[in-house]
Amino acid sequence: MLAKIQAIRGMNDILPEQTPVWQFLEAKVRALLRSYGYQEIRMPVVEQTDLFRRSIGEVTDIVEKEMYTFDDRNGDSLTLRPEGTAGCVRAAEEHGLIFNQTRRLWYTGPMFRHERPQKGRYRQFHQIGVECFGMDGPDIDAELLILTARLWQSLGLQDHAHLELNSIGTAEARKAYRQALVEYLGAFGADLDPDSQRRLLTNPLRILDSKNPETQRILEKAPSLEDYLDDESKAHFGQLTGLLDAAGIPYRVNPRLVRGLDYYGKTVFEWVTESLGAQGTICAGGRYDGLVEQLGGRPAPAVGFAMGMERLILLLETLELVPGDVHGNADVYVTALGEPAIREAFAVSDELRQALPGRVVITHCGGGSFKSQMKKADRSGAAIALILGENEVSEGVVGVKPLRSDDAQITVPRGSVAEQLAGMLRDR
Ligand code: ATP
Ligand code: MG
Repeated sequence: MLAKIQAIRGMNDILPEQTPVWQFLEAKVRALLRSYGYQEIRMPVVEQTDLFRRSIGEVTDIVEKEMYTFDDRNGDSLTLRPEGTAGCVRAAEEHGLIFNQTRRLWYTGPMFRHERPQKGRYRQFHQIGVECFGMDGPDIDAELLILTARLWQSLGLQDHAHLELNSIGTAEARKAYRQALVEYLGAFGADLDPDSQRRLLTNPLRILDSKNPETQRILEKAPSLEDYLDDESKAHFGQLTGLLDAAGIPYRVNPRLVRGLDYYGKTVFEWVTESLGAQGTICAGGRYDGLVEQLGGRPAPAVGFAMGMERLILLLETLELVPGDVHGNADVYVTALGEPAIREAFAVSDELRQALPGRVVITHCGGGSFKSQMKKADRSGAAIALILGENEVSEGVVGVKPLRSDDAQITVPRGSVAEQLAGMLRDR
């Protein structure tokens, strides 16, 4: 036998037993976003490498070590998208969806990052992302947070996701703060963990979310970003928290919350759960007013977030919040023996699908005795098996056998099968 080729580490197959859970979550999100007037956009999975370098930032974890970058056959450097915001801005700008208007967009799909695979962290993972353009006030920031809170509610997660909120101000405010932070932290030299020592030179704000206990202790007395915020960012943040208070959305202001991507400014936030261990951030985002211009467009304010589908699904499963009926059994299984009966089986099945919308009708294929077909009918979870043999066909009837009760098999005229089944399936 030839050696089998396996999937790439950290890239998961989503198997038939799992897809109903994905569809359940996707349907919830889709319906919610629709009800808020968000439009779906679909972008390619591959973009020019420069798009991510220029947006996410050269000295971020993603660009430094996590991107899947390769040369196209003509020598262009391409990258599998590690996130959706850059591509969304690129697409929206390219097609004139941003200039002089407002837009509420969303997308979903796979993202790729070369990270160490572990629970809730994969190399191919899926996000649902939302991006809003052309609105600079805190109202749209609030809307994004309100709609996510409503999503948690509709999934039963309201007590399991906490909102962490911060303002990281304008680029100038961060620059002044960065200087103060570097001055303070520089004195600790080798007491900082190696990662933070390196970041001191490249991306010092990221040190704020270091998990290292000694670095954490050092950070306790560090200057606070809050003290460096510009007045406009402060006012924006104050109005945002006011809107959240009025809407009854609880949050915790976390002055150490910075995000791992360079394009954010002013509002940043994360929804975090305690129920997933280290990979607890299920949704993250913020305002990125500078990005459209940075990517060559006319300046336009923007704000958005992305949620991690795998983490949300893990959370729903851990908390046993996936409704039992998402897996959807078959309703009717149509068995047939002999060619005339098989022809009839297709016709009856089609009729039933027309007459009973939403019901799952499986037409047996692959031959075999009635006994083996009935076993398959049973395994399909169907409530009813239809039986079509030579006799049934010549007499113009169908055998109807309930599979989940002791009721006896009955014979029904061909013309009234749909009506008969509608009645039998009513309570299912
Ligand atoms: P983390 O701090 O957990 O690495 P991040 O800041 O890199 O997250 P974002 O770029 O903000 O994550 O992506 C938004 C969301 O996408 C995250 O909150 C998380 O739910 C999900 N996510 C990010 N990276 C992965 C991954 N490698 N595997 C699974 N989900 C991920
Ligand atoms: Mg990350």
